[in-house]
Amino acid sequence: MDAKTLIKRVEEDRAKFVSLQFTDVFGTVKSVDLPVSKLPEALDQGIMFDGSSVEGFARIQESDMHLRPDLDTYTVLPWTPEDMRRSRIICDVELPDGRPYPGDPRGVLKRVCNELAQKGMIYNVGPEPEFFLFRGNGGGTHPVPFDTGRYFDFSSDDTAVRIRTKLILALNEMGLDVEVGHHEVALGQHEIDFRFADAVKTADNILMMKFTVKAIAAQEGIIASFMPKPVFGENGSGMHCHQSIFTKDGKNLFYDGTKEMNFSDFARHFIAGQLKHAKGLTGMVAPCVNSYKRLVPGYEAPVYIGWAQTNRSALIRIPSAGNNPNAVRAELRCPDPSCNPYLALAAMLVCGMEGVEQNLEPMEPMNNVNVFELTRRQRREMGIEELPGSLKEALLAMENDPLFENLLGKDLFDSYTRGKWSDWDEFRTSVSDWEIDRYLLTI
Ligand code: GLN
Ligand code: MG
Ligand code: MG
Ligand code: MG
Repeated sequence: MDAKTLIKRVEEDRAKFVSLQFTDVFGTVKSVDLPVSKLPEALDQGIMFDGSSVEGFARIQESDMHLRPDLDTYTVLPWTPEDMRRSRIICDVELPDGRPYPGDPRGVLKRVCNELAQKGMIYNVGPEPEFFLFRGNGGGTHPVPFDTGRYFDFSSDDTAVRIRTKLILALNEMGLDVEVGHHEVALGQHEIDFRFADAVKTADNILMMKFTVKAIAAQEGIIASFMPKPVFGENGSGMHCHQSIFTKDGKNLFYDGTKEMNFSDFARHFIAGQLKHAKGLTGMVAPCVNSYKRLVPGYEAPVYIGWAQTNRSALIRIPSAGNNPNAVRAELRCPDPSCNPYLALAAMLVCGMEGVEQNLEPMEPMNNVNVFELTRRQRREMGIEELPGSLKEALLAMENDPLFENLLGKDLFDSYTRGKWSDWDEFRTSVSDWEIDRYLLTI
């Protein structure tokens, strides 16, 4: 879309404001809001802003940054009231001289996708974000599930379904191609899946989906949360990612009709790369203290580093694709919706492509083993490794694997890990209810 067409669209949509969005290193959506009268000038000259207080952004001496709107991302925010109608455009962050700002997470993903495009390939990702709807609790935040439904329950008429329908309609209006919405396993837990797209678009979509779900739930007096494990003893919320690599002319390189499951050598090398770097990768795709409360046995979330065809306990699963070549894909199951999707997908891609470039081979698939039934000793003897058990282990793995600093660059890597270590230190020094229950009276 060019600037002229965009300005016409904004008029037709009767938008009063345009939010120019970008994200910080942790995936928090930031925005500069413009009255529409200032839009033509902004499109012409871009917007300067002081990035020095944005997490992960520049040191003071180079804090002036420039937002360059990516016009194809324009959309109205359908929940905004008509008299204050708002739309948004996602922006790339640039240095004053026009070079991409290396601290911009979207820029990192664009860079690795462009490198792949140079080789004639596109990285496609279809995510499955899960979330909870909770009742507002008199101003408190203690989670009380909103509904009484369970996995795939059909309810003919309840508020959760009404809200999910409202959500899907809003997301469709914003151009998201929603494939399915359904109740998830836990009370009050839901999932909305949208169609795969190239990684940059998918990461844009994930963030859009998250703030739309929160905004629409809030209008109904309900709290929506993408926290990975909000309720002990219940399933957590993951964001499985279905991945494949297509050629520019639409051929799926993960498909090979002569191979088992139609899963090509290319695809096998790709997942071998992700399995090799799985520990550090987890620090990028499941990046908060709470993520590791989800990655435990018993809740359909992965714990061990392995792959399989149907086994849902595996870290990477190869779903059956029927006889549709385009549907052959690898599902990575450790990501959760607390990640910065730009950095998460960038890391997933470079891990996978290292496998392709070095012809790496994965371990034997875990098709016929239920790893959860093995003892710790048996697992050790079979060489089955575990994902990190805490944010600390994941951060150490990231620091010990040069791939991640190479991907992010020193500054972004430092600000990412600094922020995560600080969360970890706060967490490990706080005293939990569990400790009080366990020790206060017994010691
Ligand atoms: N909630 C599970 C997870 O944390 C996934 C459950 C499912 O999609 N069947 O990954
Ligand atoms: Mg699903
Ligand atoms: Mg699910
Ligand atoms: Mg899944």
